[in-house]
Formats: sequence, structure tokens, C-alpha cells
Amino acid sequence: MPTHHVPRKRFGQHFLVDQSVLAHIVAVIDPRPGENLVEIGPGAGALTRLLIARHGGLQAVEIDRDLCAQLRDRHASQGLRLHEGDVLEFDLSQLGASPRIVGNLPYNISTPLLFRIAADVPDLVDCVFMLQEEVVDRLAARPSTAQYGRLSVMMQARFAAEKLFTVPPEAFRPPPKVDSAIVRLTPLPAGTHRITTPSVFADLVRDAFSQRRKMLRNALSGVLSEDELRHFGIEPTLRPENLAVEDYVRLANFIAARPDQARAR
Ligand code: SAM
Repeated sequence: MPTHHVPRKRFGQHFLVDQSVLAHIVAVIDPRPGENLVEIGPGAGALTRLLIARHGGLQAVEIDRDLCAQLRDRHASQGLRLHEGDVLEFDLSQLGASPRIVGNLPYNISTPLLFRIAADVPDLVDCVFMLQEEVVDRLAARPSTAQYGRLSVMMQARFAAEKLFTVPPEAFRPPPKVDSAIVRLTPLPAGTHRITTPSVFADLVRDAFSQRRKMLRNALSGVLSEDELRHFGIEPTLRPENLAVEDYVRLANFIAARPDQARAR
């Protein structure tokens, strides 16, 4: 933990202090020369220091002004390019081409940040993030499981999600209340899921899972008839968690192609 810094709850500050966990994270990131490496929330620089030693230059986005001052003092001359501010407000295109984005994320902003990265970084190479274990399990969940939901479908439409290892609360100061885990998100090859209208896809997935316990014929009654579901080989009595990502893509593309949808856009 940084000297004289009282961890700020509102910024989700839990600093990694376990050196073997830090080394394990750097090993799975495996930074290579020439890569555009970006750390979100470097904090006191526990991971930053190791990444710079291994990789040389690094960009980082940090909201805490005091920690930014410390990071600049210690690492600016070693090739750290620091963007001070809220990563949710930050124009991600400023990161430059083909970024690899890593970090021990503040858990309170992890979901909106994942959605932004998925939408706004078309040439992303990959992400390696520490998140709440429960969120990692949702990111990597398969259909027809309790963890599979809106986050799983939205992220798996864009990424392959791989849970790498878990990290206990004792690895941090102060310890969080929950277990954490490292996830790697790798963009799927172009054309894996051809979503014609992302807003229609996002609306459909949100509608489906806002009624998670209902059968599809009820959860989606406002947008798809039972006959239309059957036309796609989907039994209307199934529940939202029973559909694969590809099923949501096919249904959303069908809705988006309707003449009334074209007028609505
Ligand atoms: N990487 C450090 C480590 O592992 O010890 C700190 C991790 S701590 C869980 C999260 C970090 O993200 C903190 O440094 C916090 O100040 C920063 N942070 C929180 N909200 C942020 C935001 N909206 N934009 C950028 N950084 C943020």
C-alpha cells in the first residue's frame, strides 16, 4: 500500500500486496515488446512497477489525484504515460492502436467499463482483468446455468472469456469482502457473430433477462410471437438462460430486418 494514503472506498481501492499473485498476473499478461499496454486503475503502482520493468513503456488511466502524483514522481521517467481522470469518461480512442488493456479493476465500475470496451475499442488485442469472482463466473458462464445472463450474452457476443485463477481477499489491503478472479477476454474473430444492429441485439437481451424466470413466450411477447420463435427452432416454453449467444443474434437480426424496425431507427 502507498505510504500516507488512506484507501478511498468510493474509488474501490483495494491494493494488491501479495507478491506471488502479482507475479502470476504479470506472467499471464506476458507483455511483449512493441505492444500497446494499458493499465486501468494503477493505484499505488504494485502491478505498474512490474509491468514497466518487464515491458518498458505503459499507459495508465487513474482517477485518484494523489495517487497520480505519486505515480508520476516514480514512473514518468521510466515511460509511464498517465491519463488522470475517470476511465468511464475517457475517450478510449486516445489509447492508440491495438491496445492490450489490463488491471485490477475497481469493482463498482467493472460492468459499465466492460460494456464500453466492447463497444468502443474495435482493434482491442485482449484484456486481462481482476474482477469479483462472481462477475468472472458470469462472463464465462455457459447457457442453462445459474450464472448465465445478460452480461454473459453481451460479452460473449464479442469475446471469448477465460477464467484463469482465483485470488483470496487476504491478497489485498484492505481486503475486499468477496473473492476475486483473473479473467482473460479475447475478441472473437471478425464475423463470428454477425449482429446487424447492435442496439436491437442489446434491447432484446435486456428484455429477455429482465424477465429471467419467465418462459420466452412471455418474456419476449412484446417483440416475438410463439410462431416466430418456433420458426428459429426455439421452443417458446424455454427460458432466457436456455438460448445460446447465436440464438440471440439470429432473433435480433430478424427483428432488425422488419420493415417497422427500419422506420423506427
Ligand atoms: N492496481 C492497483 C493494485 O492492484 O493495487 C489498485 C487497484 S484498486 C482495486 C482500483 C484502482 O482504480 C484504484 O487505484 C482507484 O483509484 C482506481 N479507480 C477507481 N475508479 C476509477 C475510475 N472511474 N477511473 C479510473 N481509475 C479508477
